[in-house]
Amino acid sequence: MAHRRYSPLDRVLGRIDDLDATNLAILARRLERERDLMETVLDTLREGVIVLSHDGSIDYANLAAQHLLGMNEAAVSGANLRKLSPDLAKVLELPVEAEALTREVEVRYPESRVLHLHLARVGASSDVERTRRVAVLSDITAERVQTEDRIETERIDSIVALAAGVAHEVGNPLNAIGIHLQLLQREAEKLGDTPAAQKVRKAAEVCQSEIKRLDGIVRDFLGAVKPTPPNLVDTDLVAVVAESMNLLKDQLQQLGVRVAVDVSEDIPLILADRNQVKQALFNVMKNALEAMDRGGDIFINFSVDDEWVILAVKDTGVGIEADKLTRVFDAYYTTKESGGGLGMLILLRILRAHGGMVDIQSTPNVGTTVTLRFPLKHRRVRTLDAPKA
Ligand code: ADP
Ligand code: MG
Repeated sequence: MAHRRYSPLDRVLGRIDDLDATNLAILARRLERERDLMETVLDTLREGVIVLSHDGSIDYANLAAQHLLGMNEAAVSGANLRKLSPDLAKVLELPVEAEALTREVEVRYPESRVLHLHLARVGASSDVERTRRVAVLSDITAERVQTEDRIETERIDSIVALAAGVAHEVGNPLNAIGIHLQLLQREAEKLGDTPAAQKVRKAAEVCQSEIKRLDGIVRDFLGAVKPTPPNLVDTDLVAVVAESMNLLKDQLQQLGVRVAVDVSEDIPLILADRNQVKQALFNVMKNALEAMDRGGDIFINFSVDDEWVILAVKDTGVGIEADKLTRVFDAYYTTKESGGGLGMLILLRILRAHGGMVDIQSTPNVGTTVTLRFPLKHRRVRTLDAPKA
């Protein structure tokens, strides 16, 4: 290498042919110490460093890289990366025309992570067998999650403020109209029973009921988007699912949609606000229904793991294309003629308020699965208790 520092070691190495056995042994020990020092330095790095030989076998992996691979040194050294982590091996491929590259990558094994990768080719380029790839990997999963959370919270907050403002503005004139309509009705009473008077009364009645309807919409809307803290009580999720399904009973029947519920294990009670969860589930199932206007199936599956009570709602509907999938939680994003585009946002808000999570997977023309995760009760209690400890 052109700009290597010239050290006493280099001087000795330059005279290597002149050294006798004793001095060679001294040199070997010195080289070993140098190597140990280098490895110690590399092992203190938080970044993973992996050196691959031209055939993809691992020449070297520092401690951080071993962690990333979920393996110890013995398992890593000399092994072919493709066998240990096909994901990572693919990511560490360097196109022949490139000398180096930098990018963000996602790996799924042994854990789902977002990594920042810098990859470079080193060694004699004339001799392919001797070229190596050096990868420096920084784990940016936590930062990524934090940023995404923050963006999402900000987005939701601003939309809620906007929506609440609009609803408020609509509410005032609506009130005034209602009052004046009452006055009108009272005057109409005085007109006696002429056909004209009857017509006026009838029209006023229609107006009243429409105002009531509008008022209801505004109130429901405000109730749904305003961050009302959930009133957490012991809740049977399975029962709540049945209730929200009941609300959609007629539509399910009309569209010829079958529903299969799979509760193959004991589902513990969760701490939840029953009404909010009902609303959340209603939103999910309504979307599933609307994605299957020519009939289909909804599969509802309950399960439990160490941390969550998991509820998956799978439909056999139209599905969502990959590039649209990231937008379904956006406020007012809708692909339906009469859609409001708030259902998924409200679902997300409710799950967040419960310490839970939502994710959605979809394949166009095959179907969509929306998965809701509610924290296990004991876990939630532990998190809430934590500050006292
Ligand atoms: P809306 O239902 O009023 O359109 P949502 O927020 O509930 O608003 O959903 C937003 C969009 O996400 C829908 O318009 C639709 O394109 C898509 N979507 C949500 N759930 C599904 C589903 N199960 N199948 C297909 N598309 C879906
Ligand atoms: Mg919807």
